[in-house]
Amino acid sequence: MFDYLLQYLFYQRSQRWERRRLEAHQDERLRRLIRHAGERVPYYRQLFKQIGLDPVKFSGREDLHQIPLLDKETVRTRQQELIADNANRYGVVWESTSGSTGTPLHLIVDRGARSNKLAALLRSYHWAGYHIGMKTFSLQSYYLKGGDCQYYPLYRVLRFDSNRLKRDSAAAVIRMIQKLKPRFFMGFPFDLVMLARFAQEAGLTIPPPVALVTYGETLSEHKRASLTASYGCPVFTYYSQHECASMIAECERHGLHLCDDFACHEIVDTRTDPATGKQVGELVGTGLYNYAMPLIRYRTRDSVVVSETQECSCGLSLTRVGDILGKQCDYLETPDGRLLGAVMSHSIDNGKGVVTSQVVQDALDHIYVNLVVDGSYGEPSQQALERDLRKRLGDRMQIDFRIVSELEKRPGGKTPFILSKIGREYG
Ligand SMILES: [Zn+2]
Repeated sequence: MFDYLLQYLFYQRSQRWERRRLEAHQDERLRRLIRHAGERVPYYRQLFKQIGLDPVKFSGREDLHQIPLLDKETVRTRQQELIADNANRYGVVWESTSGSTGTPLHLIVDRGARSNKLAALLRSYHWAGYHIGMKTFSLQSYYLKGGDCQYYPLYRVLRFDSNRLKRDSAAAVIRMIQKLKPRFFMGFPFDLVMLARFAQEAGLTIPPPVALVTYGETLSEHKRASLTASYGCPVFTYYSQHECASMIAECERHGLHLCDDFACHEIVDTRTDPATGKQVGELVGTGLYNYAMPLIRYRTRDSVVVSETQECSCGLSLTRVGDILGKQCDYLETPDGRLLGAVMSHSIDNGKGVVTSQVVQDALDHIYVNLVVDGSYGEPSQQALERDLRKRLGDRMQIDFRIVSELEKRPGGKTPFILSKIGREYG
């Protein structure tokens, strides 16, 4: 249970390592992971044979390019083969995600990967000004049973469910914040912007925290400025995903750093060659700790900007990146005045037989869900999806389902998970 505390001490040390030592750590961890994958993971046993890779001779980062990139489709369709024969040994937990692309993904994360992720996450919060034991406020998608918000004294955290954010509930949680005075805020940027807006409209003051960290959606410059002004504190961003394949955190001097001690990252261009200079590329990551289901050279589908300089006044030797562009994403508006972002995709995650999905809003009270499905999709799957969506969208939204062979694209060629055709802009 306290694995993560030991890991936390490790990450406190490793952040101060020289570049050479960090890279040696990555090489050593990669060698161990690739040997394990070659021995224990059916997908990699077959792949390595096919490409003629001998895991025993694999040396580290310089040999990584021999292994093809891994995309979400492969993880989804060959999920069972990616699970190690001896996965149970590592203490596994199922995770389910689809990010903002609307493609469901089910995966397992083992105990070691989870404690490493928590420890590295706490380190990044520490950079922003958090200390273990500090009272926090968290606004993200929870399915809280006992109301819109709940305080957990053991963890000293006040949680507010972003799915229930509207004027009345916002006023109630702001009163709780005024009473409890949490010192550290975190959550989805869009919802934090909306909470501040509701506070302003109601003439309520939110006591300023020490810092605020956002995650889950891209933090645009516009939202960062708006949050900094509304909450009266410095704003930081944090990026990772359920897959535990990559992590980016913002240091105390507001530089964005790849957590090289947690994962081995690559930034690739459209030809999947390494992106250099001040270029935009796709973030590809190899988590160093998930032995139950290793994902090697995993394509995150998120775009990042390569940094022109590696220097940062914080003194850390973790690789810098220029910016996180993430994915483009729209929002849905509900007839009762709530706005829902990419988090909607989680409602469709567990739909049996759903291969890929998209939500399109064409009227304030009407959405349709485009679904690409396989043979296991049926009436029960649709009923379950509708139930889940209804929970978030309320009773006044009409919901239709369309089985399609392709999702709708934007003129620029992007296929967003949420496509809003009602032309309202927020944030
Ligand atoms: Zn820095």
